[in-house]
Amino acid sequence: MKKINFYSGPAILPEEVLQQAQEAIHDFAGTGLSILEISHRSKEFVKVMDDARALVKELMNLNDNYEVLFLQGGGSTQFCMVPMNLLNENETAGYLDTGQWAHLAMEEAKLFGNVYIACSSKDKNYSYLPKEISVEPNSKYLHITTNNTIYGTQIHNFQSSIFNLQLPLVADMSSDIFSRQLDYNQFDLIYASAQKNAGAAGATIVVVNKNNLGTVNRKIPKMLDYQVHINKESMHNTPSVFAVYVSYLTLLWIKKEGIENIEARNIRKAKKLYDAIDASQIFEGMVAKEDRSLMNVCFKTKDILLEEKFIDYCKQKNIVGIKGYRTVGGFRASLYNAMPEEGVNKLVEAVESFS
Ligand SMILES: *Cc1c(COP(=O)(O)O)cnc(C)c1O
Repeated sequence: MKKINFYSGPAILPEEVLQQAQEAIHDFAGTGLSILEISHRSKEFVKVMDDARALVKELMNLNDNYEVLFLQGGGSTQFCMVPMNLLNENETAGYLDTGQWAHLAMEEAKLFGNVYIACSSKDKNYSYLPKEISVEPNSKYLHITTNNTIYGTQIHNFQSSIFNLQLPLVADMSSDIFSRQLDYNQFDLIYASAQKNAGAAGATIVVVNKNNLGTVNRKIPKMLDYQVHINKESMHNTPSVFAVYVSYLTLLWIKKEGIENIEARNIRKAKKLYDAIDASQIFEGMVAKEDRSLMNVCFKTKDILLEEKFIDYCKQKNIVGIKGYRTVGGFRASLYNAMPEEGVNKLVEAVESFS
């Protein structure tokens, strides 16, 4: 029996994407070859890559200053690629220290330039988003994490002080890309590993404003140079063909559903679950209410002895993947785009009946 998958990543994919991917493993685009066997230079796959890049641009409504790339190495490689391509050794960049991934991004950037913490919520184990930040005026860019996957916080107000600073913004959107309507043109660089909300592990989506490139004087290895990948249209070397294909199928699904509908559904799903947690006598949320993520819902039992019992209880109901990250504990239910409302209803029922 198919389980209800609340894992944080790799994560749930739309059923039709799995089916189409399965078909392509046997016969890709009528070629009589598997997607796993075909040349990345075949016209059939080049079309997938081109269409996938164009779909990202279309879904984000990006203007012509932007290039879309499908790279490898996950979000973690972007932690070093961003400063390598954007930050000279004598230049300064600000980082919002809002979670483990944000922190790792900052640590990597220190290898390449001057980096400062613009704000931090480490004092309360990243359970909220700082409301004030301090920025050094000549910052080359400000790095934000729009959704903190591990801690369950998400930036909701893009009109807030951070976004009035007129600094180039670099956003790690690994766990909430395509989950809502946004003015994506306000960011100078966006990156996201695909395995949370946009496909399978192995592909990383990078959106970059070309005007920010070419300003560093260090030598950059080709594989880590955005401009090389732009010039080669994401085909500098063999891309992760299958992962890119799964992202392509997921993007088609997102387009068909419509981001505005996906967003409305995401709001409904998260509200239902948070409401059930808040109404319960034995569970509680772990994050400042105004910063609660629609993607990763972190909660716990007030009595820690009930924790294992709830996980077992859920397992019996075919609900998997709700164990919280080890530095946080409790539970984390990931409600990415592909999680249907019925799936969330099952978890809500479990929260209520267990209570
Ligand atoms: C998962 C995640 C990453 C790391 O992605 P990898 O593909 O494992 O390198 C980075 N940032 C955020 C916000 C994430 O959720």
